Amino acid sequence: MRREGLRCFMGFRVFEEVCLIQRAVEEPAPGFQSMGLSPAMLRALKKARYFTPSPIQAELIPEALDGKDVIGQAKTGTGKTAAFGIPIIEMLEQRGKGPQAIILAPTRELVQQIVVELTKLADSQDVAVCGIYGGEPIERQLRALTRGVDIVVGTPGRVLDHIERRTLYLGDIFHVVLDEADRMLDIGFRPDIERILRKVPDPHQTLLLSATISDEIRKLAQRYMYQAVALNLSKDEPSVETIQQYYITVENERKFDLLVHLLRRDSPRQCIVFTRTKRGADRLADRLRGKVPGVATIHGDLAQSVRNRVMQGFRDGTIPVLVATDVVGRGIDVSDISHVINFDIPDDAENYLHRIGRTGRMGKDGLAYMFVCPDQGEPLTAIESLINKTIPTLNVEGFEPARREVRRVPKFQELFSNIRR
Ligand code: AMP
Repeated sequence: MRREGLRCFMGFRVFEEVCLIQRAVEEPAPGFQSMGLSPAMLRALKKARYFTPSPIQAELIPEALDGKDVIGQAKTGTGKTAAFGIPIIEMLEQRGKGPQAIILAPTRELVQQIVVELTKLADSQDVAVCGIYGGEPIERQLRALTRGVDIVVGTPGRVLDHIERRTLYLGDIFHVVLDEADRMLDIGFRPDIERILRKVPDPHQTLLLSATISDEIRKLAQRYMYQAVALNLSKDEPSVETIQQYYITVENERKFDLLVHLLRRDSPRQCIVFTRTKRGADRLADRLRGKVPGVATIHGDLAQSVRNRVMQGFRDGTIPVLVATDVVGRGIDVSDISHVINFDIPDDAENYLHRIGRTGRMGKDGLAYMFVCPDQGEPLTAIESLINKTIPTLNVEGFEPARREVRRVPKFQELFSNIRR
């Protein structure tokens, strides 16, 4: 019921756009041609050099243009931002009192990246996009919201803050995106998200993107989405497949030397080194600075201006080695990252996927090393069970395990078959 008006509108819009495409665009981006996108969007895609839709784009864009609620299981690096960004920009109407679309994302970095991507997709169109997040003075955001925006992208906490101050009006919202929903729930944003969703007027469209679909996400979807179409693209997701993964057995005290050795040996184009804690990231970056060039650290305790500078340096290649923690590191979207080094084994097996997904983006090759101490067999097995494959071990010359190899913990099935024998 609530979708009929939109479908009707979209049907007309698609028809109108197809006519326009035929008239106005000489060389449209071929892969996107059959989607009924506007000439302005096809020009923006061509300018961005997006010639072929990625799998999530091919599946999600038509469903979203049809006005449906969609749950897309896809990781970052698969083109998911454009997958929701393209249809939203296409469906925007005349600017009203408040924004028509709200995109919630877990970290400032991800918010900023989404703003950049949407601005690229809305090239030459009058679409105002505003990023709202903590860690910067609120004035810029207030000015932008007062001027009028079409799309708001924000972290749940700061979005709620604006709603409570009555500086963000949700009465015109039609599109809601929950990006990296699993991560937002991990960070504890669930109550904030629900409070925001309850304020969005009906009818509206919700697009939920998540690397993993847990029971908690399913419950959220059941409660706030309407007959959602579920797209699982993670099985075809190229990124993990194109990443060569290895673990290296190493005593805790030798991890630093091993890291220096690998960085000197491989001289990675761009590398993220993951640590478990913010202090650990700072300490490691300090020690590395005298040993390898271009090292910086990034984590949630740094001022936003510092984080921006570091990310800029990482993007332009002046900082090839970035030491990061999980929360900030996983939002990093730089397509040329060649190496991910898990200096500390991730606490949570799912974080492993998020970490290594920083490399091998959009089908490019990547290399992921994980340092595993001899007593860390259990977390290693948990990761292997999650990715459903055995990670090969790598012997590094000069760092051969002297005494103790990692003691792998047998998987549940193996244990079970042993008992039966
Ligand atoms: P995302 O998964 O949204 O973080 O996107 C990963 C990277 O792929 C970003 O740098 C995008 O600019 C880029 N990208 C997205 N869609 C396409 C496409 N169809 N063709 C080429 N690059 C793309």
